[in-house]
Amino acid sequence: MIKLEDSYSHKGQRKALVKTLARKGIMDKKVLEAIGTIPRHFFFDSALHSHAYEDKAFPIGEGQTISQPFTVAFQSELLAINAGDKVLEIGTGSGYQAAILYLLGAEVHTIEYNQHLYQRTKKFLPKLGIKAHFYQGDGSLGIPDKAPFDKIIVTAGAPVVPKSLLKQLKVGGILVIPVGDRKTQKMMKLTKKTAKQITQEEYDSFAFVPLLGHEGW
Ligand code: SAM
Repeated sequence: MIKLEDSYSHKGQRKALVKTLARKGIMDKKVLEAIGTIPRHFFFDSALHSHAYEDKAFPIGEGQTISQPFTVAFQSELLAINAGDKVLEIGTGSGYQAAILYLLGAEVHTIEYNQHLYQRTKKFLPKLGIKAHFYQGDGSLGIPDKAPFDKIIVTAGAPVVPKSLLKQLKVGGILVIPVGDRKTQKMMKLTKKTAKQITQEEYDSFAFVPLLGHEGW
């Protein structure tokens, strides 16, 4: 049985984290508010609770990580979520990013490759009152029978932009994805202007765990 307690100290640390993210350039007030609301330590093993509000990625088991808060905030900002947006997240992991997307008003669809993380997070997020649709499988192929999506976020590093994901994006939709080699990737924002025209913006470098699967590594 997990004991979920959000103490005064945790709230204070969360406030400080939000200030750090704003100082590092996150401007979207709703994103900062969501980070300030979701207790990140709930997503950590209790042995690591004291590190939960550091702006760092941490292990979540199965060789995977919970992304750095700055990364979560940066990707969320690029997605520019509108209430009711149907959003696909690839790489459920701990469920922290999915929780932020939910708070931003998205209808969250999240897919995880790793069977154990899928099972764990599918059980855990509803306990926090977070609603999402959970899937297990190769998210590099998207989820064709749930498409199209308003927004797609990939939280693992891809070698190329998966064609399936662009296909499953609505016209006007946004795909945010880190693309590069197995160690570092550039954050990319792709906007589907028309069925045939995609614009592309490139941002700073990040270091994600690899996107596995058919259109991954
Ligand atoms: N979004 C997560 C969070 O908030 O904790 C962090 C994600 S972690 C950096 C990357 C996740 O992507 C891992 O859990 C990994 O198992 C998953 N992953 C890698 N390749 C995948 C694929 N093809 N489909 C779905 N998930 C994948």
